Amino acid sequence: MEDSYKHRGMRKALVRTLKQKGIHDQKVLEAINNVPRHFFFDNALLPHAYQDKAFPIGEGQTISQPYTVAFQSEKLEVAPGHKVLEVGTGSGYQACILLEMGADVYTIEFNKILYERTRKFLPKMGYKAHFFHGDGSQGLPRHAPYDRIIVTAGAPSVPKSLISQLAIGGILIIPVGDSSTQQMIRITRVGEKKVKKETFDYFSFVPLKGEEGWK
Ligand code: SAM
Repeated sequence: MEDSYKHRGMRKALVRTLKQKGIHDQKVLEAINNVPRHFFFDNALLPHAYQDKAFPIGEGQTISQPYTVAFQSEKLEVAPGHKVLEVGTGSGYQACILLEMGADVYTIEFNKILYERTRKFLPKMGYKAHFFHGDGSQGLPRHAPYDRIIVTAGAPSVPKSLISQLAIGGILIIPVGDSSTQQMIRITRVGEKKVKKETFDYFSFVPLKGEEGWK
């Protein structure tokens, strides 16, 4: 796994593209600049690693588009030390971005093969997260509450379990819609039984499966 001058140059160009597309959070841009996204790709696919595009990672799943990762990370308002639950580990790229931002990352993946692959791969890159296999549409109650929850698959509605696992003052970012497009939704738990809901742009994610996802 080599991170050369050329790779770093390609990453800087990606960061410039993200800035042009409206990502301004310096911590997010620095994280994108620091994580070698090409480590998630075969050598022959290097030209794809720093394009602002989603890419297949096997098992019918994708590594999310860098803009989407940056957008969700920005809206999540992560601060160092935050306990963050990620639903949909996938390749582990988003988890690396959160770790670069100083979060303590709990990440859950439904697909056993991806879970095993990513759990072994991230430590080789020097990233330490807590990996879980299971249905993240119901969150990860045994480690709740979380300061932040990020869902990286498209949900039919906001799972109640996820709201209940947010700390007071915590933020959940989740794409909600049908199987082709979803609107990015941010839920802030402002009190024990009170939430604030904000809506943003439309995106296209693979479906969130499970009990509180697409059955
Ligand atoms: N965050 C990932 C990354 O950085 O590569 C991208 C995730 S991919 C767009 C969505 C992932 O969510 C897939 O790996 C899929 O298997 C997973 N997924 C779908 N439903 C899930 C569920 N109920 N619980 C946990 N993971 C789920």
